[in-house]
Amino acid sequence: MPGVRDRNESAWLLPNDGSRTNHRLRADMRRFADTDEIDLVIVGCGAGGSVLLQRLARAGWRVAALDAGPFWDPDADWVSDEAGSHGLYWTDPRVISGTDPVPMGSNNSGRGVGGSMVHYAGYTPRFHPSDFVTLARDGVGADWPLAYPELRPYYEQIEQELPVAGERWPWGDPHGYPYRPHPVGGNGEIFLRGARALGIEARVGPVAIANGRFGNRPHCIYRGFCLQGCKVNAKASPLITHVPDALAHGAEVRADSMVTRIAIDRESGRALGVHYVRDGRERFQRAAMVAVAGYSIETPRLLLNSACSRFPDGVGNDFDQVGRYLMVQGAPQTAGRFDAEVRMYKAPPPEVSTEQFYETDPARDFRRGFSIQTVSPLPITWAEHVAAQGHWGGALREYMSDYVHWACLGALCEFLPQPGNRVTLAEEKDRYGLPVADFSYSQCDNDRAQAKAAQSVMEDILHAAGADEVITIQRYAHLVGGARMARDQYSGVVDQFCRSFAVPNLYITDGSVLPTQGAANPALTIMAVAARAASHLAAGARSGSAPGG
Ligand SMILES: Cc1cc2nc3c(=O)[nH]c(=O)nc-3n(C[C@H](O)[C@H](O)[C@H](O)COP(=O)(O)OP(=O)(O)OC[C@H]3O[C@@H](n4cnc5c(N)ncnc54)[C@H](O)[C@@H]3O)c2cc1C
Ligand code: SF4
Repeated sequence: MPGVRDRNESAWLLPNDGSRTNHRLRADMRRFADTDEIDLVIVGCGAGGSVLLQRLARAGWRVAALDAGPFWDPDADWVSDEAGSHGLYWTDPRVISGTDPVPMGSNNSGRGVGGSMVHYAGYTPRFHPSDFVTLARDGVGADWPLAYPELRPYYEQIEQELPVAGERWPWGDPHGYPYRPHPVGGNGEIFLRGARALGIEARVGPVAIANGRFGNRPHCIYRGFCLQGCKVNAKASPLITHVPDALAHGAEVRADSMVTRIAIDRESGRALGVHYVRDGRERFQRAAMVAVAGYSIETPRLLLNSACSRFPDGVGNDFDQVGRYLMVQGAPQTAGRFDAEVRMYKAPPPEVSTEQFYETDPARDFRRGFSIQTVSPLPITWAEHVAAQGHWGGALREYMSDYVHWACLGALCEFLPQPGNRVTLAEEKDRYGLPVADFSYSQCDNDRAQAKAAQSVMEDILHAAGADEVITIQRYAHLVGGARMARDQYSGVVDQFCRSFAVPNLYITDGSVLPTQGAANPALTIMAVAARAASHLAAGARSGSAPGG
């Protein structure tokens, strides 16, 4: 992969002595004073925030990322225990409402440097070209203010930096991956066998898991703990893929810093910096530019909580767009029992997937589609799966002791963006005295029809592979949207380069800006969108226009 190290040296900056963290790099990190007017302060150091941080540090900007959670040390903080990993999740209170409320917690977002990718599964597919024009093409959803080819170079860059391993991908814009596919475990073998029997095309990958050495990151050891934080450093997360390089280029990462408000100048309407709480003290970081990357619920909440005399309904909310069109994928999971032992925990959960059902099929009674992937719940999650089916007491115990005989598949259904699916502020306050988010969510008929079809295909695959019993639960995955990009301020919050329509020196560079969600996992697209915004900002600064213009 020529050039990747010149662009991002993170994997070579990690230690090569059996430990997981470059403590020297963290100790020597540049530290700005609150009174310094830095070029850019970023709220949140996850998928979108970290890429922006790393790119602009490399471009010579004085930049800091403030994250509400800790600066994780995989050796000291992460444990080989499913229950012991729950501290990785953002579990602050949120109100949920609507006709199909989305449960919040471990399945939604992370907290701390690295963001939700610290405990994401590791699938990194691209969106399809059609995802950018669903309204024009299929009459549903929305059209992005940018087209797929404009994002392609950034997909390629990020795929090299994570890096991604997988078979050549025949769907969407067909492409290869920098690393060869991983060998698959029992769950993946069952998916491939069942799919083959039905004539469904399935492929191994794409996963952001080192297959072979990458810099000082070792090969995956197939211990199946990806969703609990990979202690090995084989699975990509910004903590190891973008933060080390950012620190080496003079960025600051300020952990345990909860941003409570964006300050807006009453006269000019420009952002002045951010108010935040650290060690129980309220502080203010001045900055020439602010970027928000706090994930789909927290980003719109922060904009709404930053209401001021210039923006009485929330920053950038003059046209009532903030918080709207929040999306979550329908994610039914179907498990099948086999006489032979499967031992689905003995491999990374992300192994095999199909995107054969991704696009609109005129023969079906819904628009857009779904993908299917292996998911391999560990015992606690498996117990939740079985309990959600109504099994309890003796029956639950029986399913649990039978765990090694089960295989499990999950679908990602492209539930459609709707204006009423949104974040507003609740009456309830959090520990900082700030109103918590109220997330209202309701499905439409198209969503329900998709989930039904996905369930039926998963059941067919498992039966075709020889399952003697199948059980399905309905669930959700991945939040995106809530501050979407659009062509104008009447239909969105930011432009195609993630710049706020209302505040010229305010950017949003996380999953909130996605206008549609496809049937693909979102992290790669979020990082690519942030990398594109960073290129635009760096080019603007090089050409002489001040940051934020
Ligand atoms: C269980 C699970 C499995 C997943 N699996 C996959 C997968 O296989 N593939 C995939 O592509 N995606 C997956 N995802 C989703 C993916 O991780 C997210 O879509 C992605 O990380 C979101 O990026 P982001 O930049 O929007 O936010 P995040 O990466 O979540 O970063 C947001 C950061 O902002 C911080 N923050 C929030 N509010 C504030 C504030 N007010 N002040 C300071 N800091 C703040 C948070 O602490 C966090 O670190 C998974 C998610 C979960 C929960
Ligand atoms: S299976 Fe591989 S990538 Fe997942 S946690 Fe284990 S070593 Fe890390």
